[in-house]
Amino acid sequence: QVKRAGRHDFRFFTAAMQQRAARHLRVVNALRYALEREQMHVMYQPQVSLTTGRIIGAEALLRWSTPELGAVSPTEFIPAAEESGLIIQIGDWVLRQAVRQARAWLDAGLPPLVMAVNLSAIQFRTADLPSHVAQILYEEGLPPEYLELELTEGVALQDPQGAITTMNQLHDRGIRMSIDDFGTGFSSLSQLKKFKVYKLKIDQSFVRDISTDAEDKAIVSAIINMARSLGLTTIAEGVETIEQLEFLREQHCDEMQGYHFSKPLTADNFRALLENESR
Ligand code: C2E
Ligand code: MG
Ligand code: MG
Ligand code: MG
Repeated sequence: QVKRAGRHDFRFFTAAMQQRAARHLRVVNALRYALEREQMHVMYQPQVSLTTGRIIGAEALLRWSTPELGAVSPTEFIPAAEESGLIIQIGDWVLRQAVRQARAWLDAGLPPLVMAVNLSAIQFRTADLPSHVAQILYEEGLPPEYLELELTEGVALQDPQGAITTMNQLHDRGIRMSIDDFGTGFSSLSQLKKFKVYKLKIDQSFVRDISTDAEDKAIVSAIINMARSLGLTTIAEGVETIEQLEFLREQHCDEMQGYHFSKPLTADNFRALLENESR
């Protein structure tokens, strides 16, 4: 009996694995043509000051859909793009789009904001990244202080010294950096001193149960307080409720981002929101 059940489980397991591998292949193959077929676009989610309530930034978030696959989540296609190396080309495209958009909003006379762009660890480790980013800013005519690169703790995992060098070079060029999903990696706050980051993005997994879970409360308040003593700005991700917002404000978190204020928006809708606010 046991043996038969075991064999059955095994067969089921391999079938699921095969399906996953097949899906992965389809995604990677389709990704190769995503840009030339104009299947990608960028959405923008507001980042809001907890002291003034005003929009102070936007995070560029990539979207992709194909006729065959429908909408594919970035949590699925970004890892596939990283494994296949396609992330270099795709990441470059996102960066240019976002920088161009920030320039267009400035030209339209909208209140200045910082454009935050996610950078994969693989992009971060490419040769000449700092001069490459500077080149894009120059070509699009955006001053560097309007750009923020969102890095994950993973960038420093393999080669901390190399990461420090790259970050110093980006910093010297006036480009800001934040640590995304902070708290989920392995870096300690004391290590942060060595890295030229100016903002920590508190991961949404800690924010989710902030109004009910004593441990999450303690973690978030510890991050905010230690960041403050290191002179770093904090932004909470995934803020969905007024209760979460009130706790964060009590703890003197600087900024927030989440569905409570707004979901990611098309460039046109984001602009309408900005125009409405500056009226
Ligand atoms: P992330 O950088 O941490 O982005 C935040 C994610 O949380 C986004 O998911 C956003 O839509 C979602 N989010 C924002 N507010 C809320 C909220 O209140 N509740 C909940 N439940 N979720 C919220 P998205 O757009 O699906 O992106 C997922 C991840 O994919 C991103 O996480 C980022 O790691 C990656 N990603 C997206 N675009 C890019 C890109 O252009 N380049 C790279 N390298 N990675 C990207
Ligand atoms: Mg991000
Ligand atoms: Mg995040
Ligand atoms: Mg994330």
